Amino acid sequence: MIAMPGTGKRFALSLGRGIVVLLICTGFVGLATAGPTPEEYAAHVGAGAQIVTSGDLRLDGKKAQCGQRPTVLDGQLDDYGAAYPGFLILNPKLLNKVSTPVKMWIFAHECGHQFRGPDEETADCFAVQRGRRQGWLTTDGLEEVCKFIAPAKGDSMHFAGSHRCELMRKCFEDKEIK
Ligand SMILES: [Zn+2]
Repeated sequence: MIAMPGTGKRFALSLGRGIVVLLICTGFVGLATAGPTPEEYAAHVGAGAQIVTSGDLRLDGKKAQCGQRPTVLDGQLDDYGAAYPGFLILNPKLLNKVSTPVKMWIFAHECGHQFRGPDEETADCFAVQRGRRQGWLTTDGLEEVCKFIAPAKGDSMHFAGSHRCELMRKCFEDKEIK
């Protein structure tokens, strides 16, 4: 049986009143775990899934590449992005609702899981440093990312989002690559 993202670790944002919105990343299955191939994943999703070869993906016209890894576009994914060892998954319908730097950051965050493992803060740091080096992330863009991950004021997850942003701002300024 193929493990689908729904069976993996999830990161949920509680907006109160029992409404839970999945936040950014459906999680990452550890490198030691054999996951599906992109072809197996796309076949499981069925109609509408599309495998994009490494180097061919554009987000608002900007090239989005994660080493040699392909990306599966899955409009049914219940999150913006996810990662399996060896490939990334993006939901183009949800990505269409966010700005270009936020799109690029989501892709780079999932790419961070490919190279740095399951830790969210490490993937965040990888993403902003890559954005700075590649030129698609400015301090203004970083603030858009911060707004994106902290949509609900005053609750505990808002604090978590703010905490992640503090770390990302530090990483963005840090010349030492994490
Ligand atoms: Zn993540």
